Amino acid sequence: MKKIERGSAEKNLEKKKGEEGRERGEEKSGSQQQRALAVLKGIYEAWDEALIEDAKDWPEEFRCPAGCFRCCEETDAVPVTPLEVLGVVFALSLAAPEWKRKALKRIERWMAYIEDNTASEGRENGGGEKREGGAAWRGCPLLRDGRCSIYEWRPLYCRAFGFAGASDGSFFGCEILAKAIPKGKRISLRDYEAVARAMPQVKVKTTGGKCLPDVGPLPEMLSIFFDRSRT
Ligand code: SF4
Repeated sequence: MKKIERGSAEKNLEKKKGEEGRERGEEKSGSQQQRALAVLKGIYEAWDEALIEDAKDWPEEFRCPAGCFRCCEETDAVPVTPLEVLGVVFALSLAAPEWKRKALKRIERWMAYIEDNTASEGRENGGGEKREGGAAWRGCPLLRDGRCSIYEWRPLYCRAFGFAGASDGSFFGCEILAKAIPKGKRISLRDYEAVARAMPQVKVKTTGGKCLPDVGPLPEMLSIFFDRSRT
């Protein structure tokens, strides 16, 4: 039986349908992402507004010292959900390309440090950096010149640190701020963990098409997202 060749018009139509389908798919995933970012923005705004309200009752001394970024410098495991990773990735997409490249390198070095755990004597490459005084530093790779480079989209953990309580009633913050609470004074603090638990879970695909874990340290989640792991 003679094989019926499909006409080129038919082939073109199918090709066009495929392209439109792909475009629709991209549009769909683009708008899903926008919706997810809008939800995240709403959560962050509600949290920030609540803290501003709380702060009205806080003692004057209960403030982060000006220019202090010790928490960002010393932290190595800000926990984030995939939804929050979307926020950070969005913030990085708006950053200058050279900073984005640098941030990705810093994330790789953070991962190398964690994997090798050999930074105590300050390796020059592939591990922690040396801070003044020789102590090993890993810190948050998104800290830039003493400021958060993704400030508008910093995770809930960072927004809460120093200004919230934990479910066991303890203060969720650094000792500098803890000392600033006048003796005998009780500060009403919001339960950060309860808000973190209520964070909507969304599935976020990495650039390699895998799904991000439900929660993980920020640099590691970014490393997975951008498919930058060393293995
Ligand atoms: S994400 Fe920003 S606020 Fe959070 S630890 Fe990193 S630099 Fe600090």
